[in-house]
Amino acid sequence: MLKTINILLEKKWFPLSFRFITLAAFLGLVIIGFSSPTNDPFFVQQLSKTNLTTSFVWRLWWPAIILTSIFFGRVWCMVCPVEMITTFFAKIGLKLKRPKWILSGWVVILFYMIVLIGGVTILSIDRNPKYTSYYLLSIVGISILSGLIFEKNTFCRSICPFGYILSIFSKMAIWGWRVKKRAVCDSCHDKSCIASEYTYNLNYKSCGVDLVPAEMDNNNYCLLCAGCLKTCKTYQTGTNPLRPNPGIVKTGFADDLMKINPLSAVEWIFLFLLSGSLIFEIAEFQLMSRLSIPSLSENFSTYLSINEGFGKDLIAAAYLFFVLPAILWILPYLVILSARIRISFNTYLKTISLIFLPVITAYYTGLAVMEIGTRFPYYKYIIHDITGVETIKSILFKQIEEPLLPQWTDWSFFIFLLLALIIGIIISFEVIRKLLLKFRIGKNERILYILPFIFILILFAGVFLYTSF
Ligand code: SF4
Ligand code: SF4
Repeated sequence: MLKTINILLEKKWFPLSFRFITLAAFLGLVIIGFSSPTNDPFFVQQLSKTNLTTSFVWRLWWPAIILTSIFFGRVWCMVCPVEMITTFFAKIGLKLKRPKWILSGWVVILFYMIVLIGGVTILSIDRNPKYTSYYLLSIVGISILSGLIFEKNTFCRSICPFGYILSIFSKMAIWGWRVKKRAVCDSCHDKSCIASEYTYNLNYKSCGVDLVPAEMDNNNYCLLCAGCLKTCKTYQTGTNPLRPNPGIVKTGFADDLMKINPLSAVEWIFLFLLSGSLIFEIAEFQLMSRLSIPSLSENFSTYLSINEGFGKDLIAAAYLFFVLPAILWILPYLVILSARIRISFNTYLKTISLIFLPVITAYYTGLAVMEIGTRFPYYKYIIHDITGVETIKSILFKQIEEPLLPQWTDWSFFIFLLLALIIGIIISFEVIRKLLLKFRIGKNERILYILPFIFILILFAGVFLYTSF
């Protein structure tokens, strides 16, 4: 199968033609989002279930690209139209050198925080077709702006938070972009894959995200665009039958993770925010709200004297993205300390916390399947009514039944989530085994094996606390 994909990647039309298709789909979704009515907040919220833009972007595309990244890495980036857009504008733009603060990755964190706190939590952009369209356009706008100002592909390399999320999950992937024979690159004179003259080509392009294919050993930044594969083959000075050398190779499940490379500070902060987002997304499910403790809600609000409105949204966001994740990440460290294991907080955050990545991935796998599954019954109506206006009116006036899944499916999704978590725990155990080989912890080292369970329990507790907020 990989051989076929690599042959396909040599073709002129692949993946370029898919980028044009996704660009057309993207524009279509923006137009549909903008053509939806937004006067009545209650109606808009209901409409989000039957509108193609909100349903597709948040309940199909987003969970699907998370799922694919877990198994296959950043395959979404392969067909994402934004890479093409930002590279085009970089070609005609100022091509300024990128300052260190852009390359550092902190801009990604800032962008992600704005999307999470301002967009999803306060403005609920995922429940408003028009806001979703604004959001999609803002991504394109920033990619154009960064393209016009900076050299190469700055947006995909250092600004796009989705790429960053996918790069974290792609540590679990079964394959990666590598060169097949290092010796071929060692004796290569043209180095077409990194030659600056090809950086701004539409298709046969050298790497725009600063990667050197011959040195690649992880899935972090590669967009799987196949540009280096095409330049390696086409612009070679001689004729080496072993070229193109770069391509997709099988690395083995979670190979990147099992290397136990420490997380960078930016990666860890991203995981921290991601855990808050995870609590938020799990709490959205009906089953969780049914299981929550209703009386806590009143108690919290009364105790904190929080009224409705912006202030409450802001406090809820702080609670969700800072307080709960802080508890989630600090408590396991306290357990380690209580077992008299001497590990600095820095080592814990950057290396020991890799234990939690399979568990977070398992949560997201379950969540993605739940997201896609619960919206499935609506698609038969969305196909005929893409704005969803007539469908939701019919539902509200009881002319048609709301197309809900039977209640037992809630429990099926929950069981699926638990199964995913069991697999996550097994992978965590393997990470712990590797960690124990790397760090000679000695006495009490077995305590590390209970950390994934503690993490899972705190996460569930966080969900109940949040739904009761
Ligand atoms: S990937 Fe191709 S172009 Fe790049 S160094 Fe290796 S052989 Fe040369
Ligand atoms: S390494 Fe190759 S496939 Fe990966 S982003 Fe760079 S040019 Fe594209």
